[in-house]
Amino acid sequence: MRTLITGGAGFLGVALANYLVANGHAVRVLDDLSVGDPARLDGRVLFSRGDVRNVPTLWTHLQDVECVFHLAARVAVSESILYPQEYNDVNVGGTVALLAAMRDVGVRRVVLASSATVYGEQPTQPVHEGMRPNPGSPYAVTKIAAEHYLFTLGKLYGLEAVALRIFNAYGPGQRIPPSHAPVVPLFLKRALGGGSLVIHGDGRQSRDFVYVDDAVAGMAAASMTAAAVGQIINIGSGEETSLRDLVRRVAAATGREPAVLNNASQGAGVSRLVADLARARYLLGYEPRTSLQDGLRQLLAKDPQFDRTRVLAG
Ligand code: NAD
Repeated sequence: MRTLITGGAGFLGVALANYLVANGHAVRVLDDLSVGDPARLDGRVLFSRGDVRNVPTLWTHLQDVECVFHLAARVAVSESILYPQEYNDVNVGGTVALLAAMRDVGVRRVVLASSATVYGEQPTQPVHEGMRPNPGSPYAVTKIAAEHYLFTLGKLYGLEAVALRIFNAYGPGQRIPPSHAPVVPLFLKRALGGGSLVIHGDGRQSRDFVYVDDAVAGMAAASMTAAAVGQIINIGSGEETSLRDLVRRVAAATGREPAVLNNASQGAGVSRLVADLARARYLLGYEPRTSLQDGLRQLLAKDPQFDRTRVLAG
């Protein structure tokens, strides 16, 4: 299969690109490098720097492509509250530009990396795809808008579209920016460096942490399974983990006992979020393989960011 991955120099994009080329597929990546780093891409991946909102750029990179994985996006929930217009431009505008360019070039298959954040606060858990979305941030709104464009324009243009609602992915290569850092790598780094872990709210809020290899397997399966076309599908671990539990797992994986600071005044996001995987299992044969404990161990072993001497040196 000849594929294009937008945002393919980012955390999930690199993992997906390297998995696909290792399995014999031809992979192009388009990324503006606002965040991404192409250095981690396998040498067989064809990398180009460019903005996903630029239709002529897309025309060039879509030639002869059979399937697009659309990952290019701004991804930090808290940052989206500060810069909603930027998030809308990239996440919604980029999706619309891509779908129009696909129509122009005649590329039919597209897998959208949507997000579990579209569920927001729900009355029951685990969350399934039939529930009414309840987005609680501009980021979540951009993802539900992108889904609507995907299926509306997809139908009008005759595209084979799949939207994956990915839960909290973690694994090697995930960046730890100074602000808005994802919780798993942030906690690991703080624990290894002797710092304290800050929990917003009371720490009872739960999330579904899915190891990157499982998320990649879900994306790959979605691109190759006819039954997935026209569907929204959850991709998670199906395991509910509270932030307090995560602290315990981080302590076990690192062999440290980090101090925990509770910042009760800070918003903790939704109280619970865990994936119902029935549809992913049924349509994709998807089965998460890596437990959180194993995933944390693999992450520490494989990601040079967590080299203990480097972490301790600051
Ligand atoms: P990431 O920030 O590492 O990757 C996003 C990539 O998109 C970056 O490399 C960035 O440089 C690129 N990009 C941003 N704006 C662009 C533009 N205008 N043109 C071209 N490239 C652009 O994030 P990630 O964690 O790898 O997420 C990938 C996708 O998966 C995103 O769409 C995100 O919303 C979605 N997702 C991720 C998670 C997760 O837990 N990581 C969960 C749900 C959904």
